[in-house]
Amino acid sequence: MEGSIAELRETFTSGRTKSVEWRKKQLKALLDLINENEDKIFHALHQDLGKHPAESYRDEIGVIQKSVDFTLSCLDKWVAPNKENCLLFFFPAKGEVLSEPLGVVLIFSSWNFPISLALDPLIGAISAGNTAVLKPSELSPACMSFLSETVPLYLDNKAIKIIGGGADVGQRLLELKWDKIFFTGSPRVGSLVMTAAAKHLTPVTLELGGKCPVIVDNFSSPSKSKAAAKRIVGGKWGPCTGQACIAIDYLLVEEKSASNLIESLKKTIKRFYGENLKDLKNLSRIVNKHHFERISNFLKDPQVAASIVYGGSVNEEKLIIEPTILLDPPLDSDIMTEEIFGPLLPIITLKNIEESIEFINSKPKPLVIYAFTENETFKKRILSETSSGTVTFNDVMMQFICDALPFGGVGQSGYGRYHGKYSFDTFSHEKAVFHGAFFPEIEPRYPPWNDFKLLFLKLAYRLDYFGLILHMLGLKRP
Ligand code: NAD
Repeated sequence: MEGSIAELRETFTSGRTKSVEWRKKQLKALLDLINENEDKIFHALHQDLGKHPAESYRDEIGVIQKSVDFTLSCLDKWVAPNKENCLLFFFPAKGEVLSEPLGVVLIFSSWNFPISLALDPLIGAISAGNTAVLKPSELSPACMSFLSETVPLYLDNKAIKIIGGGADVGQRLLELKWDKIFFTGSPRVGSLVMTAAAKHLTPVTLELGGKCPVIVDNFSSPSKSKAAAKRIVGGKWGPCTGQACIAIDYLLVEEKSASNLIESLKKTIKRFYGENLKDLKNLSRIVNKHHFERISNFLKDPQVAASIVYGGSVNEEKLIIEPTILLDPPLDSDIMTEEIFGPLLPIITLKNIEESIEFINSKPKPLVIYAFTENETFKKRILSETSSGTVTFNDVMMQFICDALPFGGVGQSGYGRYHGKYSFDTFSHEKAVFHGAFFPEIEPRYPPWNDFKLLFLKLAYRLDYFGLILHMLGLKRP
């Protein structure tokens, strides 16, 4: 392992990965890898998680194709230095910001989207000109093998390496010195990552999880209520049967609207996924026995079991849990205090939907708050009175594939962000460059000090007169 990392550092020091041509060549090779191995990827995702090819395309292959295309189309613009204005008293001095690669970076990915969550950060690392180690999750072994075998056939393997393995391999990697660690996974391991990184003052990005709430307000028309139910059912169970960091964890709804909402959800579940455990279709399975037991144990609490209003059946042999709706399980039960990360959906009723703000604020900051509402004042209150990585109004999951928006958490749900230009920035250092000029030489900025010099400095800093005049003439940005 140490030898591989030394090779990556040697490659980085050679400067090869800094060239824009190298970056573009690797990104195009990554696109070839995805396009030429579509069937193998479908097969691996089916083996690990039982994903249907359409789901695999939507959530994994398509995400990477889109991300590479977007990066290739913007890379020249992103690497170009940004000219910045400086205090005009020092004219003609100039400032600029240069993005430089950080060096040798380590990427950890999780098992639920084992292709996209591994390759999407890698796109950022490559586009910024770094060398990288990617450690996929051992819990999706077919995808891990696919990446370990296929990536070296397409990408520069003196600059990009896949190191497979479990927690022991992760721990050994964390003992080494990196220039950046990008981690996708649980808050528990995220805290180990941060501790290890602190030893070398390594910057980290932590893409963690948590409980994402959905506020469901009352709608003025039945068609909007129906659309909301469709989006909730598609967003909760569609991507990896709820095993997603941005999956809906629980719903908040007014008491008087709960029964209509439940009926609408039930009808939609039957239409999208079928009825009865043995007839379910279009759903992926629980990743392994450990997670199957973790999720089914939520239902073993008698008070939680009593709150089931739909579903609840499980098939241990096939690792399938039926889409399950629960109405007002106890708020101190495990299902309401831990991240569910599976196909169970608690609904919590409130007297007034505006109480949802207080409810959400009583819990750790979520990765996403979803809110279905037409009430603009309520939307403003949600935005200004809550904190979360993202707020999505009237849809579920769609924020994830919008490259213009940063993706990441806040507080307990993570630190840092990526996607689109944000990925490039996450793996770059923005170097400030000041180009000083020898003329004019302005003496008042040096000692010996006197009152005149103090006055001069005050004017220079506070008023920036020349700048103001140029700004008024439209020649300088404010
Ligand atoms: P995890 O923390 O168990 O594992 C993540 C990675 O860390 C894996 O590569 C794993 O091998 C490695 N690892 C595990 N234990 C380790 C240790 N002791 N030392 C070093 N490395 C170790 O997480 P998971 O089970 O793969 O994923 C589930 C969690 O990830 C959920 O909390 C979910 O919300 C979160 N998640 C977040 C995002 C996001 O983008 N924010 C995406 C997917 C999953």
